[in-house]
Order: sequence, then structure tokens, then C-alpha cells
Amino acid sequence: LFAGEVDFLKGVVAMDGLPPDDRAEVCFAGRSNVGKSSLINALTGRKGIARASNTPGRTQEINYFTLGDERFLVDLPGYGFANAPVAVVAKWQALLKAYLAGRVGLRRAFVLIDMRHGIKAVDEEILTLLDKSAVTFQVVLTKADKVHPEDREKVLAQVREKLAKHPAAYPELVLTSSEKGEGLATLRAIIAGLT
Ligand code: GDP
Repeated sequence: LFAGEVDFLKGVVAMDGLPPDDRAEVCFAGRSNVGKSSLINALTGRKGIARASNTPGRTQEINYFTLGDERFLVDLPGYGFANAPVAVVAKWQALLKAYLAGRVGLRRAFVLIDMRHGIKAVDEEILTLLDKSAVTFQVVLTKADKVHPEDREKVLAQVREKLAKHPAAYPELVLTSSEKGEGLATLRAIIAGLT
């Protein structure tokens, strides 16, 4: 499903730019710098296919990738830029809301959370939006290599406690490290199972 079968399709800035809603798709969301582009690159084995968008004022695109010919992988713009202009944030929220409400093919959202920090207030906003949109979401913890094995359980407990308040949360957490490769096979298998 992933090896040699991933291609960039298009960047979308408005709902009318979305490709036909005729495949199963999964989307990736996360605070800027959470490691989203690193994870997508590591998952797909295509270095540089997903690029970090670290400029708050830049056009916020929803990037579509094809996974074989039956699925889309969707890279949502990062959120939580410290100095993002209000108008950019508002436009992004409107597009995100429309996207989450409007895609029949959307099977699951993967919300990336930096394992060193756990779920923060800025993440709660998107989790609440996912609840309201009735889109099942699964938390993917990133940069697991930066958290000492002894400290992992504490973070996991914090995340589980916060997720208990979100009806759309899928209970199983995925620990990943793009650097070390941890969790990538698990995440690929989860995506492959969403048909
Ligand atoms: P994005 O803004 O969410 O796309 O984040 P990036 O993928 O650009 O990553 C942000 C920073 O975190 C970069 O400096 C990456 O090298 C680093 N990073 C990403 N994933 C990992 C990981 O699994 N382990 C470690 N140690 N660093 C990571």
C-alpha cells in the first residue's frame, strides 16, 4: 500500500478544489512542528513528499496524496502558529470545518501529539471540532524517541484522561518515532485496514 504507491496529487485551498469524494481517505492533523511532515515522509518512504509549512502567513493548503488507487492520504495544514494572522486562522478554521463535515470518504483523522508535551489547549480545539463533526480520530504520539521509556506511562495517562472527554476519540494510541522508525508499521497497518 505504501511502497512505491504514494504520489502527491494536489494542494487545495478551497472546498471546490477537493478531488472527487470516491475513495477512502485518512487525514493527518497536528500543531506546527509536531513532526507531521517527518511522519508522512517516513510512513510513505518518500523523503520530502510532505513539506513542513512553518510560515504562519503562508497559504494554508490541504495536501492530497494518492495511496495506491483506492485511498487518499490528506495532510491538513498545521495549526497553533504563535503569530498567525487572525484572518489566516479564521480562513483555515472555516476550510477545516467544511472539510470535516463534507467528506464521505473520510475514515479517520490522525491527530499528532508531541509525546514530550501531551495534549495542549491548542489541540483541544481540533479535538472538539472532530467530536462535533463526528469524525473518529486517533491520537498518534510523535517523537517517542525523545521520551525516556520510564516517562512514557505518565504521558500516556495524561493523554488517555483528556481523550475520555472526547466521544469521537478512538481509544488506541499509536507511539511513533520518525527518526527511529518506531510505530510506523503499526500505523501503516491501521491505514491499510481502513477501507
Ligand atoms: P511539522 O511542522 O509538523 O511538519 O514538523 P516537522 O516534521 O518539520 O518536524 C519538526 C521538528 O521535529 C524537526 O526538527 C524534525 O527533525 C523534528 N522531528 C520530527 N519527527 C521527529 C522524531 O520522530 N524524533 C525526533 N527526535 N525529532 C523529530
